[in-house]
Amino acid sequence: MEDCIFCKIIKGEIPSYKIYEDEKVYVFLDIHPWSRGHCLVLPKKHTRDILETDTETLTDVILTVQKISALVKEKLGAAGINILQNNNRIAGQEVDHIHFHIIPRYKDGSLQISHSTDYVGNDLKEIMKLLTSGE
Ligand code: AMP
Repeated sequence: MEDCIFCKIIKGEIPSYKIYEDEKVYVFLDIHPWSRGHCLVLPKKHTRDILETDTETLTDVILTVQKISALVKEKLGAAGINILQNNNRIAGQEVDHIHFHIIPRYKDGSLQISHSTDYVGNDLKEIMKLLTSGE
């Protein structure tokens, strides 16, 4: 896609701190890391989000997420990993080329990923019915 910043990075038109590349997938360091070694994993094929992305591409990407997570734990000494994948603006997606964040967590790290919310989930039965009504 011509205007996509991640497509430009993949093509080498914009510089990146590349960690890994193969025929299908590209991995580089996030320019605004949440923690040391924060990586982005994306398919070379441009799709916007998880709903637009075909199964084969998603498989290639998630297997690379697993591989790079292991690498980050081994080489950087991360004690844990968060995987984050945002879809649509409301969910925090800034770049419209599907990508997975690998966010390493360290024992002495100060990063907080909070569970706090004002949503009170007291309608679980109704939601289950809605989500299973097509079965
Ligand atoms: P998201 O909000 O899930 O769409 O994530 C987009 C991520 O891309 C953000 O964490 C940005 O810091 C990162 N980002 C944007 N431009 C660049 C760039 N040129 N190089 C590296 N990371 C970038």
